[in-house]
Amino acid sequence: MDITEFDTGAFGESADSFEKLKSDCQNCGRCDLAITRKNLVFGMGNEHADILFIGEGPGETEDLEGLPFVGKAGQLLDVMLQLIGLDRSTVYIANIVKCRPPQNRDPKPEEKDACREWLNRQIELVQPEIIVCLGRIAATALIDENFKITRDHGQWFNIDGRKYFATYHPSALLRDESKRPEAFADFRQIRAELRKLREADA
Ligand code: URA
Repeated sequence: MDITEFDTGAFGESADSFEKLKSDCQNCGRCDLAITRKNLVFGMGNEHADILFIGEGPGETEDLEGLPFVGKAGQLLDVMLQLIGLDRSTVYIANIVKCRPPQNRDPKPEEKDACREWLNRQIELVQPEIIVCLGRIAATALIDENFKITRDHGQWFNIDGRKYFATYHPSALLRDESKRPEAFADFRQIRAELRKLREADA
């Protein structure tokens, strides 16, 4: 398959509805990941969620199923969400890049750049109060290019009037179980922040 077979076109008017944004995104060929992907992984969850979780990019299972975080890392994410009373119907989940990088390599800068506007439009549509970056790739893209997960996770950042937070990527927690208590403490902080927001809204 050749990159020219895809619509490399404008993001256009696609900000006005999720359906339109999603169908425009399905045709995206703005970077070479479009050539090797099996499925584009747009995102899933509650389009009016207070909280948006952002990972790195689809892995093999996600590429096959077209849904984010459905492999082993996703199962662990589901457990962590459950621990704080959330699930996929109450959050929105997306990724920095919407197509799988071959062999699960880190997305290249040009791939992250090419995909950024889709994510920006998703953020505009969901209007989450909180954005949680799962892992280094999301945190360096969205919070600070010098972000170090081991050093900076578990802190709140105010960016353009929105609360940002980062924690370990679930894959890192699968590789190194000793990090799990810190990650669970991060999730408890997220729960506390959500409660505060809900109390303020009540
Ligand atoms: N890892 C990610 O960062 N995103 C997914 O969707 C799956 C695994």
